[in-house]
Amino acid sequence: MLNIILFGAPGCGKGTQAARLAEHYDLYHISTGEVIRSEIKRGTELGKSMEGYISRGELAPDSIVVEMVRDYMRSHNDKGCIFDGFPRTTAQAEIFDTLLAEIDSKVDAMIYMDVPEEELVKRILLRGKDSGRADDASEDVIRNRIEVYNAQTAVVADFYRAQGKFESVPSMGTIEEVAERIGAVVEKYLRYNMSTKASCFSTTPTDIDVANGSSKTLSPEEKAHFDSMFPSLDSLMQFMN
Ligand code: ADP
Repeated sequence: MLNIILFGAPGCGKGTQAARLAEHYDLYHISTGEVIRSEIKRGTELGKSMEGYISRGELAPDSIVVEMVRDYMRSHNDKGCIFDGFPRTTAQAEIFDTLLAEIDSKVDAMIYMDVPEEELVKRILLRGKDSGRADDASEDVIRNRIEVYNAQTAVVADFYRAQGKFESVPSMGTIEEVAERIGAVVEKYLRYNMSTKASCFSTTPTDIDVANGSSKTLSPEEKAHFDSMFPSLDSLMQFMN
């Protein structure tokens, strides 16, 4: 089980990269923005309650978004997941940790896609031409979303940095190039994850919950140890076979 948060400002390319990662590593992919848009499209009560926030480029209320994710996790807990656009506030991140702990799971890493602000606006305006998303068509709404990101969301990085789970990936370049950089980070975490499942890889076997396997987060020292022992996923797989 690998749970990865793909993080970054609106327009940084999270959706594109999340879909690729999910397919390549056989993970679920939840985009809270997509879930909200689908609720709005279907005209549900939930959708109606969120329409105003989205059209102004504001965040939907934490309580609603967290419930959506909780719902999703109920039926999607048999493999890992890429979280795209969630959590977007520290409150969401805190509740998310509790929610995952309840199902004996955890966030493995937050991958931050670093893109300069002017590029973000350009990309969203371009996307707006064929996405049909009203919130992509107006430069004012786009700028507001970026402002909301800077004011309320960027700080969520600190939450995961404090847990030793934050990774920054320069995300300018082609989709392919960015995918490769992100893939390298994901593979690193896959390696860590596999290592906690096999006590023979452990530097401190007693710390590792072999029966449960995935619930431990490696210390920075353990991560450095595995990086030097197994620089690639292939090398770890060969060792295990
Ligand atoms: P983008 O990354 O381009 O902002 P998204 O599809 O991720 O696009 O989100 C679109 C909109 O949905 C956001 O501007 C926000 O209003 C709402 N939204 C999505 N995820 C969340 C969340 N976790 N918390 C609050 N609002 C959210």
